[in-house]
Amino acid sequence: MIDLDTDYGIGAAAQAFLARAGKMLIGGQWVDSASGEFFETRDPATGRIIGRVAAGDAEDVDKAVRAARNTLEGRLWGGMLPAAREKLLLNLADLVERHAEELIELESLDNGKPVTIARMIDIGRAPNFIRYMAGWATKIEGATITPSVAMGPHARFHAYTLKEPVGVVGGIIPWNFPFVMALWKTCPALATGSTVVLKPAEQTPLTALRLGELIQEAGFPDGVVNIVTGLGETAGAALARHPGIDKIAFTGSTAVGKAIARAAADNVTRVTLELGGKSPVIIMPDADLDQAIVGAARAIFFNAGQVCGAGSRLFVHNAIYDEVLSGIARIASAMKIGPGLDPATEMGPLVSEEQRQRVLHYIESGLSEGGELLAGGNVRAGDGYFVTPTVFGRVKPEMTVAREEIFGPVLAAASFETIDEVVNLANDSQYGLVAGIWSTNINVVHRMIPRIRSGTVYVNAHNLMDPAVPFGGNKQSGYGREMSKMAIDMYTETKSVYIAY
Ligand code: ADP
Ligand code: MG
Repeated sequence: MIDLDTDYGIGAAAQAFLARAGKMLIGGQWVDSASGEFFETRDPATGRIIGRVAAGDAEDVDKAVRAARNTLEGRLWGGMLPAAREKLLLNLADLVERHAEELIELESLDNGKPVTIARMIDIGRAPNFIRYMAGWATKIEGATITPSVAMGPHARFHAYTLKEPVGVVGGIIPWNFPFVMALWKTCPALATGSTVVLKPAEQTPLTALRLGELIQEAGFPDGVVNIVTGLGETAGAALARHPGIDKIAFTGSTAVGKAIARAAADNVTRVTLELGGKSPVIIMPDADLDQAIVGAARAIFFNAGQVCGAGSRLFVHNAIYDEVLSGIARIASAMKIGPGLDPATEMGPLVSEEQRQRVLHYIESGLSEGGELLAGGNVRAGDGYFVTPTVFGRVKPEMTVAREEIFGPVLAAASFETIDEVVNLANDSQYGLVAGIWSTNINVVHRMIPRIRSGTVYVNAHNLMDPAVPFGGNKQSGYGREMSKMAIDMYTETKSVYIAY
């Protein structure tokens, strides 16, 4: 299907997948869309088309939801014991490990991210995550409850709770960590015995489709995981409003999250939302500056800033402001930008031309609203959706680059004098996903943590993730939590049982 003539090339396995990919997975069958329509996915480093993928819409979503419902209620999956579900997930983890190189190449090619990131994070951490969730399959338990009041002079009862699968899950996921997101929405659901209809982002459908193949190979019954590729406004919207969906798990922009919650409200479909961020990074005067400068630069430039927890607002104490900003600007200017498939690349292109235009528009607003440009601010010559790592200094809280999520490599920095001042600045956002504090003063750190409104606080670190630690947002960054036992809670319903005796 494609003619890859780059110097970097991709292996035979990834090449073979590109040649066969393009169909959707519904009820265990690889099928075209009902309409017969396709859309194209591109290599962000060159803009070339790398694949044509079925453009599913409402009719395909409906078929997939029916398949997921049948499987949910059928003997094969509905009657499967937890240890068997655990084993299937463990099989999947092994397969992901075995096909890691192929998945790394596909992820880098479809999304544009450096292979080093795909190897270390996206694909490298995946087996661990799957195995963590596999473990929960056999550890889901309710409670026995001693009744607290009398129900009449003689009546007695016994009470307990059952934890049951939430049902058919609709997973709608973004393009920044395509494979990771596909796993976040499927593995906890599968551990509980739920079934899934997954809608990957139209920019990056490939690794989710490869995951579908591996799920089949692992031995999951047909219809446990269904994958409908398609556009957000068609396939995504149809999933969000489908009455056969019990729970929507969404990661993406706040605007789309609100639309999904509204659509789901008509059926009282359960919803969890992991949305945008405008996360503050605070550097205190007592911080280890070498670490903090590198850490703050990574916090914004990792994955070209296309990270929901990106540290996009930087607050640096007056006493060290100039030193920190010149250090970050130096790192930004020295970053090696190039195609993701080049192992030397530190920052790849953005995912799409649309995303590049969005980011450039924000850079223009930073300039016109009076930001001080310390690094970057332009595009890289040649093809591909490249933007240079950009640093704005002396940013005022009311400026657009300080308020809106850019989802690109653009840092908005400002200085502060007191702790009260910086806590207020950090909290002055509609978002509340993560926050970073760099300091060697543990007393100050402990006093600041409870005052910051965010789902996660990093101290002397940024963008850490662990399958056992909950992740999610406050305020307009969303509700619900991913990972940890809390993720399992999000994919179960509690049934209370009273037995009179
Ligand atoms: P971005 O704007 O950065 O592409 P989105 O929030 O639009 O992020 O995309 C995240 C996911 O939401 C994608 O899978 C996309 O197809 C899907 N999506 C977009 N619009 C809608 C919608 N109206 N209803 C349901 N899903 C949508
Ligand atoms: Mg693509």
